[in-house]
Amino acid sequence: MRKLVAGNWKMHGLGGSLAELQALKRGLGTAACDVLVCPPASLLARAYGVAAGEFPVGGQDCSQHQSGAFTGDVSAAMLKDAGATTVILGHSERRQYHGETDALVADKVKAAWAAGLSVIICVGETDAQHEAGRAHMVCHDQIRGSVPSGASPTNTAIAYEPVWAIGTGKTPTMAEIANMHSHLRHCLVEALGEDTAGVRILYGGSVNPSNAAEILNLFEVDGALVGGASLKASDFLKIIMAIKPF
Ligand code: PEP
Repeated sequence: MRKLVAGNWKMHGLGGSLAELQALKRGLGTAACDVLVCPPASLLARAYGVAAGEFPVGGQDCSQHQSGAFTGDVSAAMLKDAGATTVILGHSERRQYHGETDALVADKVKAAWAAGLSVIICVGETDAQHEAGRAHMVCHDQIRGSVPSGASPTNTAIAYEPVWAIGTGKTPTMAEIANMHSHLRHCLVEALGEDTAGVRILYGGSVNPSNAAEILNLFEVDGALVGGASLKASDFLKIIMAIKPF
């Protein structure tokens, strides 16, 4: 399957950062994978304009509600209206700092699908869960709780993001990544049926130009969700170009 490299800008970026998207667009020519950039909501419409159809843009979160008195929230339809094709949901920073539960993530996924967006649903264990040998069980439960029925390769990707690897420079071994991705594939199919067998499973957590080739060319890894290293087009392009054509 064609791999996907998605950039999550988190709460970074002002108008001047759009120059990075211009540079990304210029450098993408020979990319052997799909590319997505998820800037902050404030830049989404302008990012869509700059991308000019050369690569899609996405949101980083959306409300579970369609519309209403929810001050500060952004609906899936609003993201779509601003040019998004996709939204990241259940990122560990949302789970950790905003108390998002699996049930809430599942409701957000349904809202996103209803608005015509595809989703990247994040799962991953914390350091303590990792140390306690509970990573497989935690991710199993997150898949069961966060991914509603109806998931398919066209409307959903999963991102395995060990929380202890996000922004820390630490990564699991290649064997651990391959093993967890196989486990997640098994959990998906067991919970939701064969329709999910082709859902992309991305790896996220300290992917950078130095480790991208090793991680992204693993058979079990269908792409990457990249935080810090997606902010500079030069780094992000090195990650994208690390994917070997079939
Ligand atoms: C992320 O934000 O999803 C992420 C993986 O961050 P980083 O690449 O900076 O670890």
